[in-house]
Amino acid sequence: MQDEKAKEAGGGEPPKDALGDPARRRRDMPTNLWMQCEGCSRVVYRPKVEAKLHVCPECNFHFEITSWQRIEMLLDPGSFEEHFTGLSPMDPLGFRAVRAYTDRLADAQGRTGLADACVAGTGRIEDVPVIFGVSDSRFLRGSMGSVVGEKICRATELARDRSLPFVFVSGSGGGARMDEGILSLMQMAKTSAALADLDRHGGLFISILTNPTMGGAMASFAALGDVILAEPKALIGFAGPNVIRETIKSDIPDGFQTSEFLLEHGFIDRIVNREDLRATVAYFLRMLAGRL
Ligand SMILES: [Zn+2]
Repeated sequence: MQDEKAKEAGGGEPPKDALGDPARRRRDMPTNLWMQCEGCSRVVYRPKVEAKLHVCPECNFHFEITSWQRIEMLLDPGSFEEHFTGLSPMDPLGFRAVRAYTDRLADAQGRTGLADACVAGTGRIEDVPVIFGVSDSRFLRGSMGSVVGEKICRATELARDRSLPFVFVSGSGGGARMDEGILSLMQMAKTSAALADLDRHGGLFISILTNPTMGGAMASFAALGDVILAEPKALIGFAGPNVIRETIKSDIPDGFQTSEFLLEHGFIDRIVNREDLRATVAYFLRMLAGRL
């Protein structure tokens, strides 16, 4: 053991056959080729995970992906055209918790290249034209502030005006964005009202829930799909399990707030593996568009 350490630190005699020496092999291995799965804790080969659309080959855990990866996986190549790009978040309350909201925003914008947590526009899924939106869990946990709410509303209105289906993929573990106080809570009513209007006009809304979709997002637009699909083992709910346990002062069932639990209790319509998502959404689009 000490010898190995010495070799790794650059000390000791160089091995006669470097390729046969385990310590040397470890040192030369590019570290980013392997990753630990959050689902099964196994170390998995990253290119294999990426080839499976960021799904663990061992346990089928669906890793979080970016909004642009989602667009690439779900929409026909080159068909997406982003809309509503002029919307940027503000800090009307001058909010500061541990850090100032403006600093958190600037960090998220720098890290993701997004103005806020939602990308929306027009595109095609297996040749069916759709209005499409996605919330990005990398940006302040995909939480819904004024910009996310406004983009969802505008996308919903565009779907209504063009008589096109609206497909939205939620990755919103942050729920409503606390940094915008009542203004973010109002987005729940606003998006719900816009979707009710789409419904009155006979529109179709397909809501796709991914890990995680929680809080104010789940308590408004994400739960209002005519069809609600979910990726496997996604965390979906309103308040977190600890808050509920403390509030009701009793234990909650195993697997509570997972896609599988919610399917069993009739809250969602189907659990779909990521690799089957495009074909499944296309199936529902062909079956239901213009028929509600
Ligand atoms: Zn796994």
